[in-house]
Amino acid sequence: MDIVNRIIAETLPLVPKPIVGYFSSRYIAGETIDDAVETTRRLNAQGACVTIDVLGEHIVHREEASTYAEHYLHILDVINAEKLDANISLKPTQMGLKLDRKFCLETIGKIAEKATGLNNFMCIDMEDNSCTEDTLWLYEQLKDSCSVGTVLQAYMRRSDADLDRLIPHQVNLRLCKGIYVEPYAIAYKDREIIRFNFLHLLERLLQSGCYVGIATHDEFLVWGALHLLKKLEVPKDRYEFQMLLGVEERLREILIRDGHKLRVYVPFGMHWHAYSVRRLKENPQIAGYVLHNLFKKN
Ligand SMILES: Cc1cc2nc3c(=O)[nH]c(=O)nc-3n(C[C@H](O)[C@H](O)[C@H](O)COP(=O)(O)OP(=O)(O)OC[C@H]3O[C@@H](n4cnc5c(N)ncnc54)[C@H](O)[C@@H]3O)c2cc1C
Repeated sequence: MDIVNRIIAETLPLVPKPIVGYFSSRYIAGETIDDAVETTRRLNAQGACVTIDVLGEHIVHREEASTYAEHYLHILDVINAEKLDANISLKPTQMGLKLDRKFCLETIGKIAEKATGLNNFMCIDMEDNSCTEDTLWLYEQLKDSCSVGTVLQAYMRRSDADLDRLIPHQVNLRLCKGIYVEPYAIAYKDREIIRFNFLHLLERLLQSGCYVGIATHDEFLVWGALHLLKKLEVPKDRYEFQMLLGVEERLREILIRDGHKLRVYVPFGMHWHAYSVRRLKENPQIAGYVLHNLFKKN
Protein backbone atom coordinates (compact mmCIF):
# COMPACT_ATOMS: atom_id res chain seq x y z
CA MET A 1 0.00 0.00 0.00
CA ASP A 2 2.87 2.33 0.81
CA ILE A 3 4.21 2.06 -2.77
CA VAL A 4 0.76 2.69 -4.24
CA ASN A 5 0.28 5.73 -1.98
CA ARG A 6 3.71 7.07 -2.90
CA ILE A 7 3.06 6.71 -6.63
CA ILE A 8 -0.29 8.49 -6.27
CA ALA A 9 1.32 11.28 -4.27
CA GLU A 10 4.33 11.70 -6.61
CA THR A 11 2.19 11.90 -9.73
CA LEU A 12 -0.35 14.23 -8.14
CA PRO A 13 1.22 17.51 -9.33
CA LEU A 14 0.64 16.25 -12.92
CA VAL A 15 -3.05 15.61 -12.30
CA PRO A 16 -5.36 18.34 -13.69
CA LYS A 17 -6.59 20.79 -11.04
CA PRO A 18 -10.30 19.89 -11.37
CA ILE A 19 -9.49 16.27 -10.58
CA VAL A 20 -7.47 17.20 -7.50
CA GLY A 21 -10.39 19.47 -6.61
CA TYR A 22 -12.78 16.55 -6.88
CA PHE A 23 -10.61 14.46 -4.55
CA SER A 24 -10.14 17.32 -2.09
CA SER A 25 -13.66 18.76 -1.99
CA ARG A 26 -14.69 16.42 0.80
CA TYR A 27 -11.89 17.77 3.00
CA ILE A 28 -11.96 21.48 2.13
CA ALA A 29 -14.97 23.79 2.60
CA GLY A 30 -14.27 25.81 -0.57
CA GLU A 31 -12.44 28.95 -1.62
CA THR A 32 -14.33 31.72 0.17
CA ILE A 33 -15.39 32.73 3.66
CA ASP A 34 -19.00 32.17 2.54
CA ASP A 35 -18.12 28.52 1.85
CA ALA A 36 -16.62 28.20 5.34
CA VAL A 37 -19.69 29.85 6.92
CA GLU A 38 -22.06 27.54 5.05
CA THR A 39 -20.09 24.43 6.12
CA THR A 40 -19.93 25.70 9.71
CA ARG A 41 -23.69 26.30 9.81
CA ARG A 42 -24.34 22.79 8.53
CA LEU A 43 -21.99 21.26 11.12
CA ASN A 44 -23.43 23.39 13.94
CA ALA A 45 -26.90 22.14 12.96
CA GLN A 46 -25.56 18.58 13.29
CA GLY A 47 -24.38 19.30 16.85
CA ALA A 48 -20.67 19.84 16.07
CA CYS A 49 -18.67 22.97 16.73
CA VAL A 50 -15.93 24.07 14.34
CA THR A 51 -12.44 25.48 14.09
CA ILE A 52 -11.84 27.47 10.88
CA ASP A 53 -8.46 27.40 9.12
CA VAL A 54 -7.43 29.66 6.24
CA LEU A 55 -5.27 27.52 3.94
CA GLY A 56 -1.72 28.73 3.44
CA GLU A 57 1.72 28.03 4.90
CA HIS A 58 5.34 29.20 4.58
CA ILE A 59 4.88 32.73 3.28
CA VAL A 60 7.97 34.61 2.05
CA HIS A 61 6.94 38.29 2.42
CA ARG A 62 5.68 40.14 5.50
CA GLU A 63 2.81 41.55 3.44
CA GLU A 64 1.48 38.03 2.89
CA ALA A 65 1.39 37.44 6.65
CA SER A 66 -0.47 40.70 7.13
CA THR A 67 -3.01 39.72 4.46
CA TYR A 68 -3.63 36.35 6.16
CA ALA A 69 -3.95 38.14 9.49
CA GLU A 70 -6.61 40.45 7.98
CA HIS A 71 -8.50 37.35 6.80
CA TYR A 72 -8.48 35.95 10.32
CA LEU A 73 -9.60 39.22 11.88
CA HIS A 74 -12.49 39.32 9.41
CA ILE A 75 -13.40 35.69 10.13
CA LEU A 76 -13.61 36.47 13.85
CA ASP A 77 -16.05 39.29 13.06
CA VAL A 78 -18.11 37.01 10.82
CA ILE A 79 -18.23 34.23 13.46
CA ASN A 80 -19.42 36.81 15.96
CA ALA A 81 -21.97 38.47 13.68
CA GLU A 82 -23.40 35.17 12.41
CA LYS A 83 -23.38 33.66 15.91
CA LEU A 84 -21.51 30.57 14.72
CA ASP A 85 -20.19 28.00 17.17
CA ALA A 86 -16.63 28.23 15.85
CA ASN A 87 -13.12 29.31 16.76
CA ILE A 88 -9.97 29.65 14.61
CA SER A 89 -6.78 27.67 13.97
CA LEU A 90 -3.71 29.14 12.27
CA LYS A 91 -0.21 28.14 11.27
CA PRO A 92 2.81 30.12 12.52
CA THR A 93 4.65 29.84 9.16
CA GLN A 94 1.62 31.48 7.54
CA MET A 95 2.15 34.40 9.95
CA GLY A 96 5.85 34.84 9.20
CA LEU A 97 7.54 32.50 11.70
CA LYS A 98 10.31 31.72 9.21
CA LEU A 99 10.91 35.40 8.48
CA ASP A 100 11.18 36.74 12.03
CA ARG A 101 9.61 35.23 15.13
CA LYS A 102 9.05 38.60 16.82
CA PHE A 103 7.14 39.83 13.77
CA CYS A 104 5.18 36.58 13.86
CA LEU A 105 4.35 37.12 17.55
CA GLU A 106 3.10 40.65 16.82
CA THR A 107 0.95 39.41 13.93
CA ILE A 108 -0.51 36.45 15.80
CA GLY A 109 -0.85 38.58 18.93
CA LYS A 110 -3.29 40.96 17.18
CA ILE A 111 -5.49 38.04 16.16
CA ALA A 112 -5.30 36.48 19.63
CA GLU A 113 -6.29 39.80 21.25
CA LYS A 114 -9.26 40.17 18.94
CA ALA A 115 -10.35 36.56 19.57
CA THR A 116 -10.12 37.13 23.31
CA GLY A 117 -12.07 40.40 23.09
CA LEU A 118 -14.86 38.60 21.24
CA ASN A 119 -14.90 35.79 23.80
CA ASN A 120 -13.50 33.45 21.18
CA PHE A 121 -10.38 31.27 21.01
CA MET A 122 -7.34 30.79 18.74
CA CYS A 123 -5.37 27.57 18.35
CA ILE A 124 -1.76 27.78 17.11
CA ASP A 125 -1.31 24.65 14.98
CA MET A 126 1.92 22.68 15.25
CA GLU A 127 3.96 22.27 12.05
CA ASP A 128 7.16 20.31 11.36
CA ASN A 129 10.03 19.96 13.85
CA SER A 130 11.78 23.13 12.64
CA CYS A 131 8.85 25.07 14.16
CA THR A 132 8.23 23.18 17.42
CA GLU A 133 10.32 25.26 19.79
CA ASP A 134 9.24 28.60 18.31
CA THR A 135 5.57 27.57 18.34
CA LEU A 136 5.76 26.70 22.03
CA TRP A 137 7.49 30.04 22.56
CA LEU A 138 4.68 31.89 20.74
CA TYR A 139 2.15 30.08 22.87
CA GLU A 140 3.99 30.88 26.09
CA GLN A 141 4.16 34.57 25.17
CA LEU A 142 0.40 34.78 24.59
CA LYS A 143 -1.18 32.32 27.01
CA ASP A 144 -1.42 34.62 30.06
CA SER A 145 -3.12 37.52 28.30
CA CYS A 146 -5.12 35.78 25.55
CA SER A 147 -7.48 32.91 24.98
CA VAL A 148 -5.09 30.67 23.03
CA GLY A 149 -4.05 27.05 22.77
CA THR A 150 -1.53 25.00 20.85
CA VAL A 151 -0.86 21.42 19.78
CA LEU A 152 1.21 18.49 20.99
CA GLN A 153 2.18 15.69 18.57
CA ALA A 154 2.28 12.14 19.98
CA TYR A 155 4.87 11.02 17.39
CA MET A 156 7.48 13.47 18.70
CA ARG A 157 9.90 11.95 21.20
CA ARG A 158 10.13 15.32 22.96
CA SER A 159 6.39 15.69 23.67
CA ASP A 160 6.52 14.09 27.12
CA ALA A 161 9.18 16.60 28.19
CA ASP A 162 7.20 19.43 26.58
CA LEU A 163 4.26 18.45 28.76
CA ASP A 164 6.44 18.78 31.89
CA ARG A 165 6.98 22.36 30.78
CA LEU A 166 3.37 23.10 29.84
CA ILE A 167 1.23 21.31 32.43
CA PRO A 168 1.98 23.66 35.38
CA HIS A 169 0.39 26.48 33.36
CA GLN A 170 -3.03 24.75 33.07
CA VAL A 171 -2.82 24.87 29.30
CA ASN A 172 -5.37 24.37 26.54
CA LEU A 173 -3.84 21.76 24.24
CA ARG A 174 -4.87 19.80 21.19
CA LEU A 175 -3.31 16.34 21.18
CA CYS A 176 -2.81 14.63 17.79
CA LYS A 177 -0.51 11.99 16.29
CA GLY A 178 1.30 14.45 13.97
CA ILE A 179 1.07 14.78 10.16
CA TYR A 180 4.59 15.68 8.99
CA VAL A 181 7.27 13.21 7.92
CA GLU A 182 9.92 13.46 10.65
CA PRO A 183 13.28 11.70 11.09
CA TYR A 184 13.47 8.59 13.29
CA ALA A 185 15.97 10.31 15.60
CA ILE A 186 13.29 12.69 16.88
CA ALA A 187 9.98 10.96 16.11
CA TYR A 188 8.44 7.56 16.79
CA LYS A 189 7.68 5.69 13.58
CA ASP A 190 5.95 2.63 14.98
CA ARG A 191 2.15 3.01 14.78
CA GLU A 192 1.61 1.20 18.08
CA ILE A 193 4.20 3.26 19.98
CA ILE A 194 2.56 6.43 18.68
CA ARG A 195 -0.80 5.16 19.89
CA PHE A 196 0.55 4.29 23.34
CA ASN A 197 2.31 7.63 23.59
CA PHE A 198 -0.94 9.39 22.60
CA LEU A 199 -2.78 7.67 25.45
CA HIS A 200 0.08 8.29 27.86
CA LEU A 201 0.13 12.02 27.06
CA LEU A 202 -3.66 12.16 27.17
CA GLU A 203 -3.77 10.59 30.62
CA ARG A 204 -1.22 13.10 31.91
CA LEU A 205 -3.21 16.00 30.43
CA LEU A 206 -6.54 14.80 31.80
CA GLN A 207 -5.07 14.19 35.26
CA SER A 208 -3.59 17.67 35.31
CA GLY A 209 -6.90 19.45 34.81
CA CYS A 210 -5.82 21.03 31.49
CA TYR A 211 -8.40 21.48 28.71
CA VAL A 212 -7.74 18.88 26.00
CA GLY A 213 -8.72 18.66 22.35
CA ILE A 214 -8.56 14.94 21.57
CA ALA A 215 -7.81 15.11 17.83
CA THR A 216 -8.01 11.69 16.23
CA HIS A 217 -10.10 9.50 13.93
CA ASP A 218 -8.38 6.33 15.11
CA GLU A 219 -11.13 4.31 16.79
CA PHE A 220 -8.60 2.57 19.03
CA LEU A 221 -7.60 5.98 20.43
CA VAL A 222 -11.19 7.17 20.68
CA TRP A 223 -11.96 4.02 22.66
CA GLY A 224 -8.88 4.58 24.85
CA ALA A 225 -9.85 8.21 25.42
CA LEU A 226 -13.41 7.28 26.41
CA HIS A 227 -12.00 4.74 28.86
CA LEU A 228 -9.67 7.37 30.41
CA LEU A 229 -12.44 9.98 30.61
CA LYS A 230 -14.58 7.53 32.55
CA LYS A 231 -11.80 6.21 34.78
CA LEU A 232 -10.60 9.70 35.71
CA GLU A 233 -14.17 11.09 35.96
CA VAL A 234 -13.27 14.02 33.74
CA PRO A 235 -16.06 16.64 33.57
CA LYS A 236 -17.51 17.34 30.12
CA ASP A 237 -16.23 20.91 30.15
CA ARG A 238 -12.57 19.80 30.34
CA TYR A 239 -12.26 18.18 26.92
CA GLU A 240 -13.55 17.93 23.37
CA PHE A 241 -13.00 15.48 20.53
CA GLN A 242 -11.72 16.97 17.27
CA MET A 243 -11.83 15.61 13.72
CA LEU A 244 -11.00 16.84 10.22
CA LEU A 245 -13.77 17.79 7.79
CA GLY A 246 -14.91 14.82 5.74
CA VAL A 247 -13.10 12.16 7.78
CA GLU A 248 -14.73 9.28 9.73
CA GLU A 249 -18.12 10.96 9.87
CA ARG A 250 -19.87 7.94 11.38
CA LEU A 251 -17.54 7.95 14.39
CA ARG A 252 -18.09 11.69 14.71
CA GLU A 253 -21.87 11.17 14.82
CA ILE A 254 -21.57 8.49 17.50
CA LEU A 255 -19.53 10.78 19.76
CA ILE A 256 -22.04 13.62 19.34
CA ARG A 257 -24.94 11.25 19.96
CA ASP A 258 -23.29 10.12 23.20
CA GLY A 259 -23.08 13.69 24.44
CA HIS A 260 -19.41 14.52 23.86
CA LYS A 261 -18.36 17.90 22.55
CA LEU A 262 -16.97 17.47 19.05
CA ARG A 263 -15.16 20.07 16.95
CA VAL A 264 -14.58 19.77 13.19
CA TYR A 265 -11.50 21.35 11.60
CA VAL A 266 -12.75 23.25 8.54
CA PRO A 267 -10.04 24.45 6.10
CA PHE A 268 -10.91 26.82 3.28
CA GLY A 269 -9.15 29.26 0.94
CA MET A 270 -7.77 30.06 -2.47
CA HIS A 271 -4.65 27.96 -1.90
CA TRP A 272 -6.49 24.67 -1.65
CA HIS A 273 -4.68 23.18 -4.67
CA ALA A 274 -1.14 23.84 -3.48
CA TYR A 275 -2.18 22.77 0.01
CA SER A 276 -3.73 19.50 -1.18
CA VAL A 277 -0.75 18.59 -3.36
CA ARG A 278 1.77 19.44 -0.64
CA ARG A 279 -0.14 17.59 2.06
CA LEU A 280 -0.50 14.53 -0.14
CA LYS A 281 3.21 14.61 -0.97
CA GLU A 282 4.15 15.10 2.67
CA ASN A 283 2.07 12.20 3.80
CA PRO A 284 1.35 9.77 0.96
CA GLN A 285 -0.87 7.73 3.28
CA ILE A 286 -3.53 10.41 2.89
CA ALA A 287 -3.66 9.65 -0.83
CA GLY A 288 -4.60 6.11 0.13
CA TYR A 289 -7.36 7.40 2.45
CA VAL A 290 -8.72 9.58 -0.32
CA LEU A 291 -8.89 6.69 -2.78
CA HIS A 292 -10.36 4.44 -0.13
CA ASN A 293 -13.06 6.98 0.71
CA LEU A 294 -13.82 7.46 -2.97
CA PHE A 295 -14.42 3.81 -3.63
CA LYS A 296 -15.73 2.47 -0.33
CA LYS A 297 -19.43 1.87 0.13
CA ASN A 298 -20.81 4.04 2.96
C1 LIG B 1 -8.68 18.61 14.43
C2 LIG B 1 -7.33 18.14 14.02
C3 LIG B 1 -6.28 19.04 14.04
C4 LIG B 1 -4.99 18.63 13.68
N1 LIG B 1 -3.95 19.49 13.82
C5 LIG B 1 -2.70 19.07 13.58
C6 LIG B 1 -1.57 19.89 13.84
O1 LIG B 1 -1.69 21.03 14.31
N2 LIG B 1 -0.34 19.39 13.54
C7 LIG B 1 -0.15 18.12 13.05
O2 LIG B 1 0.99 17.72 12.85
N3 LIG B 1 -1.22 17.33 12.79
C8 LIG B 1 -2.48 17.76 13.03
N4 LIG B 1 -3.53 16.93 12.79
C9 LIG B 1 -3.33 15.67 12.02
C10 LIG B 1 -3.01 14.51 12.94
O3 LIG B 1 -1.72 14.70 13.49
C11 LIG B 1 -3.02 13.17 12.19
O4 LIG B 1 -2.08 13.19 11.16
C12 LIG B 1 -4.37 12.79 11.60
O5 LIG B 1 -5.40 13.13 12.47
C13 LIG B 1 -4.42 11.28 11.35
O6 LIG B 1 -4.21 10.58 12.55
P1 LIG B 1 -5.36 9.76 13.30
O7 LIG B 1 -5.13 9.89 14.79
O8 LIG B 1 -6.68 10.19 12.84
O9 LIG B 1 -5.05 8.24 13.00
P2 LIG B 1 -4.88 7.48 11.61
O10 LIG B 1 -4.60 6.07 12.00
O11 LIG B 1 -3.92 8.16 10.72
O12 LIG B 1 -6.32 7.59 11.00
C14 LIG B 1 -7.41 6.82 11.45
C15 LIG B 1 -8.40 6.70 10.30
O13 LIG B 1 -8.91 8.00 9.99
C16 LIG B 1 -8.97 8.21 8.58
N5 LIG B 1 -8.15 9.38 8.28
C17 LIG B 1 -7.22 9.97 9.06
N6 LIG B 1 -6.72 11.08 8.49
C18 LIG B 1 -7.34 11.21 7.30
C19 LIG B 1 -7.27 12.18 6.23
N7 LIG B 1 -6.49 13.24 6.27
N8 LIG B 1 -8.08 11.97 5.15
C20 LIG B 1 -8.91 10.93 5.09
N9 LIG B 1 -9.03 10.01 6.07
C21 LIG B 1 -8.25 10.13 7.14
C22 LIG B 1 -8.50 6.93 7.93
O14 LIG B 1 -9.64 6.16 7.62
C23 LIG B 1 -7.71 6.24 9.01
O15 LIG B 1 -7.75 4.85 8.89
C24 LIG B 1 -4.80 17.30 13.20
C25 LIG B 1 -5.86 16.41 13.18
C26 LIG B 1 -7.12 16.80 13.59
C27 LIG B 1 -8.21 15.80 13.59
